[in-house]
Amino acid sequence: TTAGFAHQARPMARQAVPVLLKAQAEFLDYGNTGMSILELSHRSKDFETLVNKAKEDLTHLLSIPDNYDILFMQGGGTTQFSAVVYNLLAAHRKLHPSAPANPLVDYLITGSWSAKAAEEAARLGANVNIVINTKKLRGAYTSVPPASEWRLSGPDAAYVYYCDNETVDGVEFSTVPDIDPAVPLVVDMSSNILSRRVDVARFGVIYAGAQKNIGPAGVTVVIIRRDLLVGPNSAASPEGAPLRPLMLDYKTHADHNSLYNTPPMFGIYISKLVFEWLKEYGGVTRMEETNRRKARRLYETIDRSAIYKSVVERESRSRMNVTFRIYPEALEKEFLKGAEARNYVQLKGHRSVGGIRASIYNAMPLEGVEELVTYMIEFEKANTK
Ligand code: PLP
Repeated sequence: TTAGFAHQARPMARQAVPVLLKAQAEFLDYGNTGMSILELSHRSKDFETLVNKAKEDLTHLLSIPDNYDILFMQGGGTTQFSAVVYNLLAAHRKLHPSAPANPLVDYLITGSWSAKAAEEAARLGANVNIVINTKKLRGAYTSVPPASEWRLSGPDAAYVYYCDNETVDGVEFSTVPDIDPAVPLVVDMSSNILSRRVDVARFGVIYAGAQKNIGPAGVTVVIIRRDLLVGPNSAASPEGAPLRPLMLDYKTHADHNSLYNTPPMFGIYISKLVFEWLKEYGGVTRMEETNRRKARRLYETIDRSAIYKSVVERESRSRMNVTFRIYPEALEKEFLKGAEARNYVQLKGHRSVGGIRASIYNAMPLEGVEELVTYMIEFEKANTK
């Protein structure tokens, strides 16, 4: 899913092709080692240098402050649904020794991914407070309800969790939630990390599965404020509280520079190439501008049309996943068929919501969006009287 909807016929239309070409060119001989990156030991100096360079470039791209660590973990976003619970509850016990054994944890549910994260926290036995649930409030995940409707637990919560961009529903926060600064804010940025500037200092934990804007699936980037690192055994676990599995423990990975066990080396390598490419492109500042233009072109086209309809409220529309419906609904199938004939693929909405979804991640250039817009306009003309 790295590029979003893809142009198969003209691969050069993909913006990050230099990354793929570089990987191809050095596939048999990585950095004059005479070996492929796939043959290299993760204990080698070369690989450690690679990890450090990747961290340095990501730090630069997101202006990550000194008191944060970057971890390259495995298991995707879903594994983080569990890791967050274990680690942040332990951090709360460390920072607030007299707090209740099972403090409240706050979840904002604005789409299907945050819903899954909250479900996992509850399944692990956390004391989950639902701050908002858009589906319950509005019937569907089509907005981020205003803060006046939120029910935060306040300063005693162990953390507040939200998903910045709901990939399936096309709902994105336009600002960082304004919460008690003493409570760690945890965010899932799997589908919009590096797409726009972000003030890292507002967060306790930022995590992202790599496969949208970073690199191959499997790698999961975690950016964590150091005071929240605890260690797998040191947390004075209250009676009955589950211990943390070692591989989910943030401090274990932090202490070993993400080399505690064999990391997903190829994925980290490609991520490093993407960071280098993005720096050369003009960093997150230029990417944000490109993404803003890409999204605006599509939403403009939708709003001007008589057959395309965005169901997401204007201020909450995602700049990464543009979801829309076509009326009459029978046209959706025709639209997808026509798109595929032009090699515009992967435009079908997620099976849980239907409709159309144009995922326009960082690797999709503005020209790709322009082509899609041209097709949309032609399709509307051909299908209206
Ligand atoms: N969170 C978000 C916002 C996602 O888009 C996804 C997957 O698409 C996930 C979590 C789950 O990630 P994974 O499939 O890497 O477990």
